[in-house]
Amino acid sequence: MENLSQIDIKSHLHPFTPISEDRTPGRIVDHAEGIRIRDQHGRTYVDAISGLWCVNVGYGNRQIADAIQQASRTVSFAPTMFGASNEYATRLADRLLRLCSGASGMRKVFFGHSGSDANETALKLARLYFLASGQPMRTKFISCWDSYHGTTLATASLSGLPGHHRNFALPDPSFLHVSAPDVFDALTRRGFSSEDDYVDFLVKEMEDTIIAAGGGDKVAAFFVEPLMAVGGILPPPSNYFPRIKEVLDRHDILLVIDDVVCAFGRLGHWFGWETTGVQPDMVSLAKGLTSGCVPMSATLVGERVWSVLEQHQDQIGVFGHGFTMSGHPVAAAAALANIEVIERENLLSKGKDTGNVLLYTVRNATRYIPTVVNVRGRGLLVGIELAGVQASEVAQKCLDLGLIVRAIVGRNTIALAPPLITSEDDILKIVGTIRKVLVESNI
Ligand code: PLP
Repeated sequence: MENLSQIDIKSHLHPFTPISEDRTPGRIVDHAEGIRIRDQHGRTYVDAISGLWCVNVGYGNRQIADAIQQASRTVSFAPTMFGASNEYATRLADRLLRLCSGASGMRKVFFGHSGSDANETALKLARLYFLASGQPMRTKFISCWDSYHGTTLATASLSGLPGHHRNFALPDPSFLHVSAPDVFDALTRRGFSSEDDYVDFLVKEMEDTIIAAGGGDKVAAFFVEPLMAVGGILPPPSNYFPRIKEVLDRHDILLVIDDVVCAFGRLGHWFGWETTGVQPDMVSLAKGLTSGCVPMSATLVGERVWSVLEQHQDQIGVFGHGFTMSGHPVAAAAALANIEVIERENLLSKGKDTGNVLLYTVRNATRYIPTVVNVRGRGLLVGIELAGVQASEVAQKCLDLGLIVRAIVGRNTIALAPPLITSEDDILKIVGTIRKVLVESNI
């Protein structure tokens, strides 16, 4: 009889996995609780990356599970197309707008089911905005090299990952890329004398890219994360966002913040963009919106975009975009419960404190390990950049010891993003395991 791993290899086409069936079978999880998961062999692991940076309140939260059950019993499905809605989607849209602080100017919420489609929606809304504004030639988009914004044709083009472009004839020529704000690389390897110097370079690069695209009147929007996660855990220079926003404003280009990883407590706030010091025109949310319990995404639409769409409603007519599952009641109920859990358990401030402990503990524990060249992070996102040892090997050795971390191969960095509920005790264990692997890898 075939076991589950054999069935999986035979039948399941996995995302971002070698095509060959001649590979080591992957982990098949059969139980998950708190910050721990268990595989088909009964092995348990501490998950220090929250699944895929998404299980913000931890696995198996009862309140969310109850809300899902309740919603699926009362309204198992109700579409939101053609002006209809369901109680949960309506409440969630209102709740999200109220979570944005008063000055944020967010006016509308559009629902989808993945970070990719949240960004896809923002791309289409940006084009619609400029069409309505009488600037139909503004069809281009700028984003950072090494960024990850999704996997559809448009969002893979938007992503700055050549490995995701190869094999699919991407990026589409409408998508342009600028340097990721990597302060450590700039100051240690690229000869910049200060952060300010480096930001001057990034600002000039943005300006040059806009001009090379045919001028400001060809570019619709710049997409960027508050802190690039998959790109290598890159806290931006402190004046990066205000300086870049100045350039965008001068050319009337929209700023879209991809908050798919950084929202819902990951950076210690409801939204990661609150740490940028600037006001985005649109915001993409997913992952932590439901803490990964069920698929859901949201695109927040700001005043600048919404007021133009509203003003040109006769010209636009119907907003011709949406999904069968947009605003699914069960997903919206999960998101509402998730927000309540974060609020009731004070997870924003707890996560911030735990994040400080994590960064401090990692820095302390790795200070004298020569293969550790940089430790950086903010909130519960921490990166450990290595030299002389492969991050992927370190991640594998951690896994052998029951700890899941993520290797960011391009920056040879170990990424940590544990759930907001992680205790200080567990932080010490996580860092202890990483230290042990690094010390042993160093011999
Ligand atoms: N945006 C960012 C910043 C991400 O990290 C990801 C996924 O990791 C996405 C978008 C895409 O989200 P999804 O995988 O839900 O489509």
